[in-house]
Amino acid sequence: MKITNDSVVSFHFTLNVNGKTVESSFGSEPLVYLHGHHGIVPGLEEALEQKQKGEKFNITLPPEKAYGARNEKLVQKVPLNQFPQDVTAGMQFQVDGPQGAMIITVTNVSSTEVTIDANPEMAGQTLNFDIEVMDVRTATQEELAHGHVHGPGGHHHD
Ligand code: ZN
Repeated sequence: MKITNDSVVSFHFTLNVNGKTVESSFGSEPLVYLHGHHGIVPGLEEALEQKQKGEKFNITLPPEKAYGARNEKLVQKVPLNQFPQDVTAGMQFQVDGPQGAMIITVTNVSSTEVTIDANPEMAGQTLNFDIEVMDVRTATQEELAHGHVHGPGGHHHD
């Protein structure tokens, strides 16, 4: 079957940025998502439409089809005393933002201030994906009601 809205899709990917591999699922578990529910970046979801099990392709996504442009307003300086004493550049914190939980990254620590960046790590980047579609199936009624995939690679309920 071909991938359409409400398909449950398993795929392997390798993500390349600026010619370097930054992440790959090959050799481990494939990624599983519910198609048409914005569970993956928009350009990749578009590219997977109508593909089927066994298909392989490569796609390059500009930032607007991936994690969006960088927003320099999301870079802020905060007094050092608002952070744990061991704060260092590269640390990440989860905070509650206007659109739910977001990850902020510490990009610089001076003697008085900490610079934080709330842009997604891949914001402003052109992403290149190698994709292999491993499986396509129809979502169950329960999965559709929940808006996510159940079972291997998906959501688990206790
Ligand atoms: Zn569920």
